[in-house]
Amino acid sequence: AKDKGRNETVLFAPELRAHKEERKLLMEGLDTALEKGEISLYLQPQVDASTKAIIGAEALMRWQRDGVFIPPSQFIPIAEETGHIHDLGRWMIHETFQLMYAFEQGDIDLPKLSVNLSVRQLFDEHLIEYLTTLFERFPIEPGRLNFELTETVAAHQSDRVLTRILELKALGIKLSIDDFGTGYSSLAYLVRYPIDELKIPREFTMQLEENREYQTVTATIVAMARQLGMALVAEGVETEYQENFLRKIGCDSMQGYRYAKPMPLDEFVIYYMKQTM
Ligand code: C2E
Ligand code: CA
Ligand code: CA
Repeated sequence: AKDKGRNETVLFAPELRAHKEERKLLMEGLDTALEKGEISLYLQPQVDASTKAIIGAEALMRWQRDGVFIPPSQFIPIAEETGHIHDLGRWMIHETFQLMYAFEQGDIDLPKLSVNLSVRQLFDEHLIEYLTTLFERFPIEPGRLNFELTETVAAHQSDRVLTRILELKALGIKLSIDDFGTGYSSLAYLVRYPIDELKIPREFTMQLEENREYQTVTATIVAMARQLGMALVAEGVETEYQENFLRKIGCDSMQGYRYAKPMPLDEFVIYYMKQTM
């Protein structure tokens, strides 16, 4: 037992080194990921569970390196730390505009395309200028573009956030709160900021079948959003039980593997065609 502590220290050190090594590799990889064409945009449909109609899609970033996908949960936090998120995020926004424009020119009537906007991006001084330029280049209907913000944004209770949010709203862009109820923020921001949509986190959806407390919390969020006139999307819907429960409490919009996984553009177009035939 006396040796155990020593052994653990010995075992722990190389692991820590491996972790650091991995982080360093990811950071270096991020320097060239865009120029090497390793970044792509996947689309995950959002559907109305009662009509089965596609009501929107979420754009999700993918990084494929030497044929292997690195999960966003690994590289996004690092990209946010290093600042790479600025270039990566702009690439996603640009791609989103291009896509919406192509959809509007073609016969694809996608009511909403959501893209994740990290706090650092929101506070980017040139964000509004950048978006204005994009609207000129790709004259899309602004109300079809939706930014997903996390509660971390709302936790910054400053005028700066409000100003920025009002600027986005002035452009006609819709805003949603991602993973609503999992962050550390007060509910007052729902009154202060013009939020269009709340997203029920996968963490809640996952628990609906086993846990009555999560049922209550989720039903309360749905009731509140509806009373405030906000739209809702439940995330991570995988089972019939979850779908039925969510519909019963008044949430019809779903995103999850039950309907479709995130997919590249060509697959998304095929999915869209099949759904609307
Ligand atoms: P998120 O914004 O909450 O995105 C939803 C995540 O849940 C996606 O993971 C999606 O693939 C996954 N998902 C959807 N339905 C299901 C389901 O039924 N079951 C399960 N198990 N998972 C489901 P993904 O693509 O790995 O992204 C993870 C996170 O990385 C995102 O969470 C988001 O926070 C971040 N992220 C992804 N793309 C971007 C981006 O372009 N910009 C920024 N800032 N963050 C991004
Ligand atoms: Ca999201
Ligand atoms: Ca989410």
